Amino acid sequence: MIGFELIKIVFLPTLLLSFAMALASCDRDNAASPARAQSSAATPSDATVPKISFPPDSAPLPTVDGARAMQYLKEIVAFGPRPLGSPSHKKVEDYITAHLKSDTVENDIFTADTPEGKLPVHNIIAKFPGTKDGIIVIASHYDTNYPLRNTSFVGANDGGSSSALLLEFANQLHGKPREGYSIWLVWDDAEEAIKPDGSGGLPQEMPFEKDSLYGITHLAQKWEADGTLRKIKAFLLADMVGDADLNIERDTYSTPWLEDVVYEAATRLGYQSHFFGRTLAVDDDHIPFVKRGVASADFIDFNYGYHDVFWHTTQDTVDKLSPKSLEIVGATMLETIRILDKMDSLPPK
Ligand SMILES: [Zn+2]
Repeated sequence: MIGFELIKIVFLPTLLLSFAMALASCDRDNAASPARAQSSAATPSDATVPKISFPPDSAPLPTVDGARAMQYLKEIVAFGPRPLGSPSHKKVEDYITAHLKSDTVENDIFTADTPEGKLPVHNIIAKFPGTKDGIIVIASHYDTNYPLRNTSFVGANDGGSSSALLLEFANQLHGKPREGYSIWLVWDDAEEAIKPDGSGGLPQEMPFEKDSLYGITHLAQKWEADGTLRKIKAFLLADMVGDADLNIERDTYSTPWLEDVVYEAATRLGYQSHFFGRTLAVDDDHIPFVKRGVASADFIDFNYGYHDVFWHTTQDTVDKLSPKSLEIVGATMLETIRILDKMDSLPPK
């Protein structure tokens, strides 16, 4: 996940045990990880946001080929760890780009100034035009963390699952005119912190805000400067979405009304039991967009036993994941977009 997963754990009364466990793991994370946890006050969306009336929709619900997405996931993981500047990172860049060969692709390439020196960063953006004025961004990071500590972390769930899901989205969007907003798929890079971030690593020497989210921050700044940002109606982020035991968090940094749309989409699909059982505040790739006033929703299952207790470990492998989870998250993201397409106007950000 978030190479930079700054996590502020909030809690539900019914999850005291989980909360205690989360805090225990977070203490460990705080010792040597970019991930952070601290308590903060949750703000239930219902308390602050007027209820949205959702437009009726009798069209067939969207589907996603979870098995095909899982195959992409296996192929990504087969390249091995994919830290910045590595040969395997380049192979994954080429793998994603090859998948998009018939699409309109923008490459956002730059050099990041990191605690370990200058490193190459490559955001890949595939653009699928729609009939409606405005853009919906779906993003996923595809890098794994810099190998100062763990040289064999392959990030099957953390970076792999969501990147594979976006490849499957591209299959659905290829060459078809869209009735609705334009969709831009973003495989962003250098989300993970460069400094060691977990067990056995050195204490982090950089403020976390400055050592993570390199790629997506660059993109947000670029789009703010060239005016693109004003056209973005929603920023949907996927991160760690493949866990066979899928529980997508309600993230309090995400935009409350957009989270409500997500829950409506999940409910229409019958997947609501996988959503919002827990409320967290998660620092992830959506933060640069949240800060710039773009409505954002982070689809993340932070309760992944092979990640948040043993941060970025070799246990984050394909066998912990499920095609069904990719299908659940994928279809919910697509239905979220369909609801947004049909809304006359979107609430103020
Ligand atoms: Zn991570």
